[in-house]
Amino acid sequence: MSELRAVRGMNDIVPPETDRWQALEATVKSVLASYGYREIRLPIVESTQVFSRSIGDTTDIVQKEMYTFTDRNGDSLTLRPEGTAGCIRAVLENGLIQQTVQRLYYCGPMFRHERPQKGRYRQFHQVGVEAIGMAGPDIDAEIILLTARLWRTLGLKNLRLELNTLGAAAEREHYRTELVAYFSAHTSTLDADSQHRLTRNPLRILDSKNPDMKALIADAPPLHACLGEASKGEFAAIQAVLDTAGVIYTINPRLVRGLDYYSKTVFEWITEELGAQGTVCAGGRYDTLVEQMGGRPTPAIGFALGLERLLGLLDIQASRGDCELYVVAAEAAQRPAALALAEDIREAAPTLRTICHCGSESLKTQMKRADRSGAHWALIIGPDELVADAVTLKPLRGQGEQRRIARRELLTDAQRLLHRASE
Ligand code: ATP
Ligand code: MG
Repeated sequence: MSELRAVRGMNDIVPPETDRWQALEATVKSVLASYGYREIRLPIVESTQVFSRSIGDTTDIVQKEMYTFTDRNGDSLTLRPEGTAGCIRAVLENGLIQQTVQRLYYCGPMFRHERPQKGRYRQFHQVGVEAIGMAGPDIDAEIILLTARLWRTLGLKNLRLELNTLGAAAEREHYRTELVAYFSAHTSTLDADSQHRLTRNPLRILDSKNPDMKALIADAPPLHACLGEASKGEFAAIQAVLDTAGVIYTINPRLVRGLDYYSKTVFEWITEELGAQGTVCAGGRYDTLVEQMGGRPTPAIGFALGLERLLGLLDIQASRGDCELYVVAAEAAQRPAALALAEDIREAAPTLRTICHCGSESLKTQMKRADRSGAHWALIIGPDELVADAVTLKPLRGQGEQRRIARRELLTDAQRLLHRASE
């Protein structure tokens, strides 16, 4: 008899690995709860139409990746490849948005028949978040602030935010015409997939992963020119909130996302530390989906986190073990104050790794130790700092100038301050 094995691309999660999963899920859920999100539990199998009608039948997911089967009654069913479509189906079926807005999340396995590789599996896990019933831009901005808070709470670094707007439906229609004109003039360069998409869903060509298409896509007309004042204003308002909160982003005009139901805001959080599978969180606004699935027109926005990728990143960053802060006292007289400051930082920002120099070495020796510890920052307390109730923050890894900041400012905002400073 042949050996029984798990299906390719579908993994067992066994102890002690399960402990890490539980810890990650608990942290994510607590941050979501602090923004008022509540859990919705959904079936893993849905009627195939739930996905084909929402995700878009020219997308990779619907065309190549779904696990679809006919059950004993002859009904076509599909293992969910993502959570939004099923969530909206459930919200409509249960009448959850007739009176009120909903902030919902779900957590669990998703299934896509992709080529298994590191960070890409056939059964993978997501936490998905959906905010239903609110038009932008406030909730768009808040959702992005939530994700930024999540990384801070998890102690994750080196994630960058890419942002784009796809415009409202009419603007996309206008853009579609421009794209068809552009790509039609270059049909000989289009690969087979793109030729197929040219008539059915030209925007999807921008999402092509084929390197031979890269140059053509780079020269395609930008969507921005098709945006009206309202869309531009909303996009600017989101950016203004992010700017005020110190969340750094880049605008990527080619970001279209792999599903058709998005409009207006789309975003991804990407890291370079996981190789090709670097997107750990992705989402956007989907204002037409509820109506498309049989409900009243209802604006909505959401995102999903890839838990395998987040755990992979946590692993890499933990194993590197760098300490973030190394606290030193310029003279012996400030040593008690240095110890007290380190204690206060641990209280204020428990996920920062803070080392306080212990011993009577000279400042020069202490700074050498700070450097060798791998710390990103040295915090120096000398006599002047003590009097001014301040701290000198010295970057050790080339992140700008040394500067003095008020002790209170450091403590109220340690995590964010140091994150931002290390961008
Ligand atoms: P990618 O471009 O990496 O294929 P996607 O655009 O298909 O991602 P989404 O459908 O937006 O991904 O899913 C949200 C998140 O779920 C992704 O950012 C990623 O972290 C995770 N994810 C998606 N597909 C897989 C997979 N096959 N294996 C593991 N994680 C995945
Ligand atoms: Mg994909």
